[in-house]
Amino acid sequence: MGYPYHFVSLSPEQDTRRRQLLNGYGQFAQLSILLVPLLYQLGLGFRLLISRLWRGSGYGLVKGHQSPVVAGSMQRNREDFGGWVRLRWALDEELVEGWGTRGQWLAAGVWASWLVLLAVKDTGDVAASQLPLHYALALKSRSPIQYLTRLSHEELNPYHRFLGRIIATLMSVHATLYLNFYVQNSLLIKRVQDIDVILGLTAISTALLINTTALSIIRTWSYRLFFYLHVILSLTILPVLYFHVSYLRVYILEAGAIYILLIIQRNIDQSPANATIKSLPSTTLISITVPLPNSLASRTFTPGQHIYVGFPSLPQKLRINPFSIANPHPNADKKLHLVVRAMNGTTAMLADLAKDPQPIPLLIEGPYGSAKYFPELASNYDRVLLVAGGVGATFTLPIYRDLLSKGKGSIVKFVWSVKREADAQWGVEALKEQCEGRLPDSFELYVSRKATSISSRRGKDDESIELQEREGLLGEEALSEETVRKGRPDIPAIVDEVFALSRAGEERVAVLVCGPSGLGASVRKEVGRWVTKGRDVFWHAEEFGW
Ligand SMILES: Cc1cc2nc3c(=O)[nH]c(=O)nc-3n(C[C@H](O)[C@H](O)[C@H](O)COP(=O)(O)OP(=O)(O)OC[C@H]3O[C@@H](n4cnc5c(N)ncnc54)[C@H](O)[C@@H]3O)c2cc1C
Repeated sequence: MGYPYHFVSLSPEQDTRRRQLLNGYGQFAQLSILLVPLLYQLGLGFRLLISRLWRGSGYGLVKGHQSPVVAGSMQRNREDFGGWVRLRWALDEELVEGWGTRGQWLAAGVWASWLVLLAVKDTGDVAASQLPLHYALALKSRSPIQYLTRLSHEELNPYHRFLGRIIATLMSVHATLYLNFYVQNSLLIKRVQDIDVILGLTAISTALLINTTALSIIRTWSYRLFFYLHVILSLTILPVLYFHVSYLRVYILEAGAIYILLIIQRNIDQSPANATIKSLPSTTLISITVPLPNSLASRTFTPGQHIYVGFPSLPQKLRINPFSIANPHPNADKKLHLVVRAMNGTTAMLADLAKDPQPIPLLIEGPYGSAKYFPELASNYDRVLLVAGGVGATFTLPIYRDLLSKGKGSIVKFVWSVKREADAQWGVEALKEQCEGRLPDSFELYVSRKATSISSRRGKDDESIELQEREGLLGEEALSEETVRKGRPDIPAIVDEVFALSRAGEERVAVLVCGPSGLGASVRKEVGRWVTKGRDVFWHAEEFGW
């Protein structure tokens, strides 16, 4: 059997017909995007239906109102739903750490196969047709994709990354096939001097550079290098592709319009505000209080959201970092409270500003985050477990305080592990203020280090912390023996306790974690044991970076 592909010489009519086909496949690839939200909406409706049946059956069985036949069929529904929960749990598992979940790989794999199918069929313009979707997935707010899928920017971001890799791969295959054609037909020397080929090769190099500099190793090394290269290169690739070949132009104009929208949107979402910054005694934490700017007063804040904090003037204007909103109800408080661990870059600058007692002009952008799309924990879940590690409590504590304010203290357990007692002082004070001077029984604080064994992240500061602690300067604020448990929390025992309290097959449990990745992984492992037993769990692990 011969090689199935060979080069053909086309007549002008055949060439026009082929061009029409190619354009058609590109448009088809773009239109097929609409199928995704449609299928997603259908899936959501189906899930809601099953969840209602399942939940209805639980209560019916408890109250004993169901006939044996109905109860039997509901029991089956419940078991079926248990299968869905297990599947969802398995798909939520990361395939390789930091490289996306199995579900995201599956979705990206299906989409890539579909695009490859369209491309292979007639080598269409499918890669460029995906650029508008790729740019739209980067929109932080006012995104039609977020409205249609009810997923936050943070949840859609992995798909933005996957689609970027798919587009770069398709473009590279396209270039390789063309270069092969030029080599085989002795056209290479002539064609690499032509402007369309030069622009094509520039576009592919740019796409590969965008993808390489977005790898987590580069992002962790220098977030700012990644960010500014990303912003500049994703803009410069558009005119390069526009002039590469004329039939891509419609997609490039669409992607360009979305890019402009993205820039306008991020600027509109930024409000100037005067912040009061204070160092928290005996810690490397700083507390930032920002009166709610008028432009944000009409926005509804949800506990667990975050905002970006930046500087209003150059050269610091190029810095804008995310922080969780540590108070649960900014609208009622008319202020935003942030607790920030001072590290090396922007956070160190903020820590320096804490020396100034005057309000500091900052830029605030947001609110953002998945919390807006969380199910209503207070009414939809029978038990809620919140686990925080260190400064991760800025995410979980507002959710806890919100549940307490809704009278749901009996269904929730809050576990907070810190290195030093002083790290938890801000949260303990806020809780006491809310709960008439005492800490709720559902609150468990674990302190893993003795006062004298302090690690040095910001060496010099830690020495002074150690000194203050030795000299008893923490004294007055120190917490009682009953409040503080020594050592690390026993995660398997805590998870088992929460699930043992909830009735199998009848109650739903929500588990939310924010802290070091090891803490999240260990909670997930223990919760996974209960999911395999068929428990219905809402799981969310908030990450302070990606
Ligand atoms: C959603 C979210 C909520 C967070 N909440 C808190 C909090 O409440 N308290 C707290 O102390 N820390 C929080 N963080 C972590 C905090 O943003 C980083 O620790 C901080 O920005 C690091 O700044 P730096 O001074 O060390 O270095 P910089 O050089 O200023 O920043 C470098 C690091 O900051 C992170 N970063 C900076 N800009 C962004 C960005 N635009 N998007 C994502 N990551 C970025 C990256 O991890 C990067 O490696 C949160 C992070 C995220 C993503």
